[in-house]
Amino acid sequence: MSHIHLLGFPRIGAKRELKFLVEKFWKNEIDDAALQAGARELRQKHWLLQKGAGLDISPVGDFSLYDQVLDAQVLVGAIPRRFGFDAANLSSTQYFQLARGNAQQHALEMTKWFDSNYHYLVPEWHADTTFAANPAPLLAQIAEARALGVTAKPVLIGPLTLLWLGKCKGAAFDRLSLLPALLDSYRQLLAALPAAGVEWVQIDEPILSLDLPAAWLQAFSPTYTALATSPLKLLLATYFGDVSAHAALLKALPVAGLHLDLVRAPQQLAAFTQGWPQHKVLSAGLIDGRNIWRADLDAVLQQAETLQAQLGEQLWLAPSCSLLHTPFDLAQEIKLDVDLKSWLAFAVQKVNELKLVKRGLQQGRDSIGNELAASNFARDQRRSNPRIHRADVAQRLARLPAGSDQRASSYAVRAEAQASWLKLPLLPTTTIGSFPQTAEIRAARAAFKRGEIDAANYEAAMKAEIELVIRKQEALDIDVLVHGEAERNDMVEYFGEQLDGFAFTEYGWVQSYGSRCVKPPIIYGDVARPQPMTVSWTVYAQSLTSRPVKGMLTGPVTILQWSFVRNDLARSEVCRQIALAINDEVLDLENAGIKVIQIDEPAVREGLPLKRSDWDAYLAWAGEAFRLSCAKVDDSTQIHTHMCYSEFGDILPAIAALDADVITIETSRSDMELLRDFGSFHYPNEIGPGVYDIHSPRIPAEHELENLLRKALDVIPARRLWVNPDCGLKTRGWPEVEAALRAMVNVTKRLRQQLTTTA
Ligand code: GLN
Ligand code: ZN
Repeated sequence: MSHIHLLGFPRIGAKRELKFLVEKFWKNEIDDAALQAGARELRQKHWLLQKGAGLDISPVGDFSLYDQVLDAQVLVGAIPRRFGFDAANLSSTQYFQLARGNAQQHALEMTKWFDSNYHYLVPEWHADTTFAANPAPLLAQIAEARALGVTAKPVLIGPLTLLWLGKCKGAAFDRLSLLPALLDSYRQLLAALPAAGVEWVQIDEPILSLDLPAAWLQAFSPTYTALATSPLKLLLATYFGDVSAHAALLKALPVAGLHLDLVRAPQQLAAFTQGWPQHKVLSAGLIDGRNIWRADLDAVLQQAETLQAQLGEQLWLAPSCSLLHTPFDLAQEIKLDVDLKSWLAFAVQKVNELKLVKRGLQQGRDSIGNELAASNFARDQRRSNPRIHRADVAQRLARLPAGSDQRASSYAVRAEAQASWLKLPLLPTTTIGSFPQTAEIRAARAAFKRGEIDAANYEAAMKAEIELVIRKQEALDIDVLVHGEAERNDMVEYFGEQLDGFAFTEYGWVQSYGSRCVKPPIIYGDVARPQPMTVSWTVYAQSLTSRPVKGMLTGPVTILQWSFVRNDLARSEVCRQIALAINDEVLDLENAGIKVIQIDEPAVREGLPLKRSDWDAYLAWAGEAFRLSCAKVDDSTQIHTHMCYSEFGDILPAIAALDADVITIETSRSDMELLRDFGSFHYPNEIGPGVYDIHSPRIPAEHELENLLRKALDVIPARRLWVNPDCGLKTRGWPEVEAALRAMVNVTKRLRQQLTTTA
């Protein structure tokens, strides 16, 4: 067998070095030379690590200072023209302005990378977008890899995937019409590679896992025929789903190899091995690139043996997808429970698993006898471990009465009960939950975690922060207040830490977007809530003010979606377990007098399966779980939910079926496009479309806010419209937050007055 390889490696570094590096650059603490040197050092470290683990060939171009889709736009010379930058001479400062916005331009829109928790920057296509290959940055990295004696396999986002991921701007046109011009730039890019010593190029076309329109599918053959003129060997990479519907097409493409995700879609293998073209490489993605569970080495080896018998030298082995989606190195986890640790594998361990499978294939099973025994032992332990299966949790779910996910009354009845005590003005203002997480807040949390300050001191620090946040909101004259979430490191981690069945790592970070990383909890066992998680902070906040304070929880679907989930129980069941735990918290908040409760579900949309045929089943269990988490409150208790980063148009009925009294959503980045959908769908309850983009440090002008609100008023009746930013404010600084919220409240008051005088 030939190669073991990776589709991509986590670029953030073992200890998030990349994050700290770029953030220093943003704060002007280091110059561009230092930024580039730091990035180079990380790349080198990662390549040497792969080389040391016996990888035959390493991805190059999977590293990015912010986002690989933005890098692809730079490579083909098609960055959004509204910035007026020259892609061929882009400075680092300009590069980051594309990603984060500047005083004149908002940032590129950001959206989910397929069904992962990674976010990419959306290309902007115009009917007359031009392309010009700009291979220099890629060539430089190839040279770096070669200097280390690493065989470089450049990784490119495929032309069809890149086009597909972009959004059309300006007059309506079909973005596929840009393909010929885009292909010219890809040809130029590829033409530059042989002289750099490149033999294999990986071209990622993950859109093959989606339901593609016929025209897009038909474009594959001419596209790859056009690219095949180069002397390079192309490895077409698919991942995240089943592409067997296109087996005939893919086998016939003039590429030298094809990668398949056999973890997500093991069933697709037969469609490819049958009549596999003899001279072509089949890269089998057998190690899970999306999760942290240790591979069942015996099972993987067995699969690899069967494949090798069929394919011989043409078999390559790899993780299912880029390891971007897994944490870096389990070896750093010195505090993790030993049993749990023995069940896990992070990127470095997955590379090692690959190496073992290769050795097992080449030198026989005995050559990895000890490792196989250890893997089998871990697998069997996990199956029988009593911490994983709890009778009380199973029984509670089994005995749930019918209707446990339904509110007692309809929205209309509830709205009245809520209005009678809330007495909010027209266009009530609120925020999404978090306020700036200052260095002091983070320091206090970290010190408490390390045991450097005691519980009383920590509590005092957090209470001081809550008071500050309440006073500031009062001064701004916001109507429904929040406590600010100072005590929360992360909206999922905070809850997971207090729930049974969850485990936490110290360094298990994965990139979410740009320099933002998340450390997903590991759901390894049955979930239950031993005690209240948020009640005391919220009650304290409420004690400081006569305005309503909104309790703030993370919903079951989001907790599931943003965790590494056990792979021995259906996701829908894990989600129901979490829903009941959140339900316990909701009822405790209500009992404590907190009668506006927001249950954040930003991840509902991204949890959608990639193929439409799987949507209904998912939406049914996800919706049920959300409702289970809050249905049993009183009519007069107002349930909010919040969602972000997504296009909701296609799932509005399911969002309405959540039956939240109020939903706040991110809309500002896509210029309120979403509202069109909400207008035509007639969303039945209250809605707060975000009026400004919190992902950018830019302070919105009052006239912009007013424009957006007027657009919203066109489609949503004033009495059901809320005014709020489009997401939590924790990543922002106080001066910009206060300025932006002041503008938001000013505009709201003006509009309110106009509405009441014209009414
Ligand atoms: N309540 C959370 C916050 O404000 C919501 C964050 C989110 O939607 N991602 O930070
Ligand atoms: Zn949000």
